[in-house]
Amino acid sequence: AVRVRFCPSPTGNLHVGNVRTALFNWAYARHNGGSFVFRVEDTDAARDSEESYQGLLDSLRWLGLDWDEGPEVGGDFGPYRQSERAVLYSEVAQKLVEAGYAYYAYDTPEELEQRREQARAEGRSSGYDGLHRDLTDEQRAAYESEGRKPVIRFRMPDEAITFVDLVRGEVTFEPEHVSDYVLVRANGQPLYTLTNPVDDAAMGITHVLRGEDLLSSTPRQIPLHRALVALGIGEGVVPEYGHLPFVMGPGNRKLSKRDPGGGLDEYKQRGFLPEGLLNYLALLGWSIGGDREVFSLKEMAEAFEISRVNPNPAQFDPKKCEAINAQHIRELPVEELASRLVPYLADAGLVGEVPSGQELALLAAATPLVNERITVLSEAVEMLAFLFVSEDGFTVDPDDAAKVLTEDGLTVVRAARDALAPLEPFDTPSIEAALRAALVDGLGLKPRHAFGPVRVAVSGRRVSPPLFESIELLGKARTLTRLDRALE
Ligand code: GLU
Repeated sequence: AVRVRFCPSPTGNLHVGNVRTALFNWAYARHNGGSFVFRVEDTDAARDSEESYQGLLDSLRWLGLDWDEGPEVGGDFGPYRQSERAVLYSEVAQKLVEAGYAYYAYDTPEELEQRREQARAEGRSSGYDGLHRDLTDEQRAAYESEGRKPVIRFRMPDEAITFVDLVRGEVTFEPEHVSDYVLVRANGQPLYTLTNPVDDAAMGITHVLRGEDLLSSTPRQIPLHRALVALGIGEGVVPEYGHLPFVMGPGNRKLSKRDPGGGLDEYKQRGFLPEGLLNYLALLGWSIGGDREVFSLKEMAEAFEISRVNPNPAQFDPKKCEAINAQHIRELPVEELASRLVPYLADAGLVGEVPSGQELALLAAATPLVNERITVLSEAVEMLAFLFVSEDGFTVDPDDAAKVLTEDGLTVVRAARDALAPLEPFDTPSIEAALRAALVDGLGLKPRHAFGPVRVAVSGRRVSPPLFESIELLGKARTLTRLDRALE
């Protein structure tokens, strides 16, 4: 059965490139009826934090990428935090050394640097030169007695490493480009180079889908996997690898998590729907077929074939990301959209954390006024604030007031007040009819000039949801209060 993994390090805000990696792994697992394993690579105590760990879980949950094994869910191959697996790594390192797949190397950083420089000067590869590959027991004892502490290096086979990448096809690395690399630091700390393949082996991972930046790790990891299989460590599988294309940001540079649009938190804050963001990220290197661009997570899982992943770099386009999100917002049932707006309105102090029945009713009525006008949920906060704010808290944008509530504008407001004050029933069609009669027919104004001042006076801004509906939702009393205030 297919077993894939997502294995980030908890070092802060997730990068959207990582999110895409998670998505493709998840979709691959779901498409193939396999397992999506979530592992946390928290071996770097200096950079990892509990807060980031919790943040990772929250992020994956927010995205809706459910995992079959991992933190909080458990599974047969746990623990799923590398910080809890230290014993395994040191046992495996020991076995690799005993079997000759790895060796102790005593070179000091200065010695290594000096030899690297010389190699560069002579035009040779500057990777590790293998000087300590085959030390005798006496040589080792001599270094030990000097007080040197060894690293453990993997002994790379002296042959080209070829594999069939699931995305890029056949890839070959020549031995001079892959030298013996460090698995365990001199202080005993195991590195990613050891812990990641050991866990993939121990957890029976069958397919590794990850970013192209890790392509050069693969010729190192495959021979290590073969050694683990030979030693009977793990589940006996050498995974297949597929490297997902780079995600390029502005200026044709790799998108970094510090770039605007690079980190996941920003999307949550602005109010992207997880399904909208994931839909867009799916397009970075994959297509569902034809020129179809909008689809659900479920449809993606049904259709996901790794052979449709394009190896060429993908350009991140923030405008397109927003447009796709806007489509998803439009497709949400109104009650669902209303409930997704609640946290954003609550954050802005416009409704309670747990809104009252009255607030919910107003929100349900107001949501259809904005669902086709917003690209992210936070935009609704600005548009709807005038309905939720108390009369004491209501203010008119000063620039808009200066432009629109001029002497002529106030004449319009006065006429609107007179037309609305006696109006019964106070609903959208009667409001529209009354205002048209008073302002367009009565004052002879073009609709734009007629309704602009009314809009600013009741909503506080020149841009608002549709005016007549807004006035109905605001109700007669509040509408008249605001018109009066404009006239003061
Ligand atoms: N912890 C590694 C990272 O976040 C995992 C890389 C891999 O998928 O092998 O980059």
